[in-house]
Amino acid sequence: MRDERQAALEAIADEVRTCTRCRLHEGRTKAVPGEGDPDTEVVFVGEGPGFNEDREGRPFVGRAGGMLVRLLGSVGWRREDVFITNVVKCRPPDNRDPQPDEIEACAPYLRRQLEVLDPAVVVTLGRYSMGTFMPGARIGQAHGTSQAVDPATGAANALVFAMYHPAAALRSPGVERDSFEDMRHVPAVLVRARELRAGGASPEAAGATMTPEPVPSPADTSTTIDSDEHLVIAAASDPAADDASQLTLF
Ligand code: SF4
Repeated sequence: MRDERQAALEAIADEVRTCTRCRLHEGRTKAVPGEGDPDTEVVFVGEGPGFNEDREGRPFVGRAGGMLVRLLGSVGWRREDVFITNVVKCRPPDNRDPQPDEIEACAPYLRRQLEVLDPAVVVTLGRYSMGTFMPGARIGQAHGTSQAVDPATGAANALVFAMYHPAAALRSPGVERDSFEDMRHVPAVLVRARELRAGGASPEAAGATMTPEPVPSPADTSTTIDSDEHLVIAAASDPAADDASQLTLF
C-alpha cells in the first residue's frame, strides 16, 4: 500500500513538474509538488511556493518552513511524519497571492494528492488554503477550529483544521502565539477524526464541527519513536493517558 501510494504521488509530481496549465509556469524555476510520508494521516496545505521553495523544488524550506517545523515540533511531530503541499505548485511572481484562476487550474493536483493520501486531517495554512476547504470562512475567526471536509476536495473522510500561514507568524508575535496555541489542538482533532472514521460515519455525514481540546503543553509531554518508527506522544504527567493524549502517526 505504501509503495502504491508513493508511486501514485510520484506520478502526480511528474505531471506537476511539466505542467503549463496556468501562467505561473512561466516564471518558475522548479515546480513544488509537495512531499512527506505517503502513509500519513495529516496533510498540511499552504498557499504557494516562495523564493527558496522555487529554487529547491520543495515546500516550506525557507523561514516560513522553519516556523512550520517549530510548530510541528511543539507537539512532537517532524515534517517527515506528515505530508506538506500547497494550493498552487508554482511560485507566484514577487510572492503575490495566488489568483482564483490559478488556484482553480492547480486544484486537480491537490485533489488527486488527497485522494491518494486519504488523510484523516487536513490542516490549512493561510487564507487561500482555508478558502479551498472552508469556503467563506474568515481566518481571524476560523483559525483554531475544524469542520468536516467536503469530499469533492479529494479528502473523502476527513476533518479540516484552519491555521494561519507560518509566514504570518513570523511577522506578528500575536499571530505566532495564536499559531502555537492552534497547533496544540491538532493532535486532538486527529483523535476525533479517527473516532469518526472508525465509527463508519464520515465526518461530513456526522456533521462534525468542533473547537478541539488541546493536548498537554510541550512541557508536559514526552515524545518517543517506537520500534516501528511510529511517532508516539504521551502525557508524561499522566501515566494513564488515554487515546486523547497519545498519538501515533502512520
Ligand atoms: S501552478 Fe499548478 S496549474 Fe499552474 S502551472 Fe504550476 S502546476 Fe500547473
